[in-house]
Amino acid sequence: MTAVLVVVLLPVGAFLLSAAALRAATRRLGPDRPSLSRAVAAAALIWGVNLLVGAVLLVTSTPNTVNVAVTSLIALAAEVAVGWWAVRKLLGTSPARSVVVCLAGLVPVAAAAGVHALVVRPYVASAHLVPSNPMAPTLAGFHRTAPCPHCGRPLVVPVRPAGDLAPGRPEEVDAIGICTGCYRTAEPTGPPGPHLVAPDRFLVDKLAAPRRWDVVTFRHPTRPGDVYAMRLVGLPGEVVFVRDGAAWADGVRLDPPAPLAGLRYEVRPHDSGSPDEPWRLAAEECVVLGDFPARSADSRTWGPVPRANLEGVVVFRFYPPARWGWVR
Ligand SMILES: [Zn+2]
Repeated sequence: MTAVLVVVLLPVGAFLLSAAALRAATRRLGPDRPSLSRAVAAAALIWGVNLLVGAVLLVTSTPNTVNVAVTSLIALAAEVAVGWWAVRKLLGTSPARSVVVCLAGLVPVAAAAGVHALVVRPYVASAHLVPSNPMAPTLAGFHRTAPCPHCGRPLVVPVRPAGDLAPGRPEEVDAIGICTGCYRTAEPTGPPGPHLVAPDRFLVDKLAAPRRWDVVTFRHPTRPGDVYAMRLVGLPGEVVFVRDGAAWADGVRLDPPAPLAGLRYEVRPHDSGSPDEPWRLAAEECVVLGDFPARSADSRTWGPVPRANLEGVVVFRFYPPARWGWVR
C-alpha cells in the first residue's frame, strides 16, 4: 500500500511545487503578482500534458516497442510549448519572461521524473504486462471471452494475435479457457467473443514482503533478463508437491484463498513436482505456479526460483478498464 501511495503522491506533490514555482518566478520577474488560482491553472496545463503522455505510454508500450528516451523528449517539448503558452495567457508575462517562468515550473516535473526513474521504478513500484496467459484469469494476456459452461461467468480464452511471430500468420484461439468466476478450466460452449482483449497492465509493489499465495514478479531462474508473474506457492525449506489438484507443503495440503477454491493444479508428463518427484526447496528457493495450470510453464517445467529473483508483489490491474481491480 505504501508503494501505491508513493505512485499517487509523487506527481501530486510535484504538481503543487510546479504551481508554487510558477507563481514565485512570475512575482520575481514582475511587475504582475498572479493569483494562486492562475498559477495552479498554468501548472495543471503543464502537468496535463505530462500525465497524458504518461498514460499513453502506460497503455501502449511494451518492453520491446517503447523508446522511453524519444518519448520523454517529445513529452518535454510538448510541456515547454504548452507551458510557455499557459504562462503567457494565465500569468500575463511577456513572451521572453514566459520562457523563464515556464522553465521554473518544469523543474519539479524533471525532478519527479528523475525520482521516478532512479528510485520509484527500481525500488518502490513499477508497471508490467504479460502478453500470454499462464496467470489467467488473475492476470490475462491477449484473449477473447466466452461464457463458462460451469457458472456462466466469462471464460478467458487465450489468443495468439494475428501476425505474432511471423507476418501474415492468422490469429490462433485456444481450445480451452479458464473461468474468471469459478477458476475452472473448460471448453467454450460457443464461439469466443468478437473483441480481442489486450493484456492486463498491472502495478507491482516492490516494498512488500512476498507471502504464500501472493502473485509475485520474478526474474526467470535461467533467463534472468525475463520478468514473469506467477503465484508464490512453495516457501524456502519446504518439501512441496502437487496431488489431488492441490499443492502440498511438508505433507500438509495448502488451501488457497477463497476466490481460488476452484483452482486445480496438475502435474503433466515430464513435469517435476509430483509426490514421487517433489521439490525439496533449499533455504533460498521458492515454488511458483500459474493460475492456469493447463497452459502455464512454471516451477513444474523449470524448477524452483531463487528467492533473490523475486522482485515484488502484484497489487493492482489498471488496464484495460473492464478488468480494473486489486489482485488477490
Ligand atoms: Zn465458471
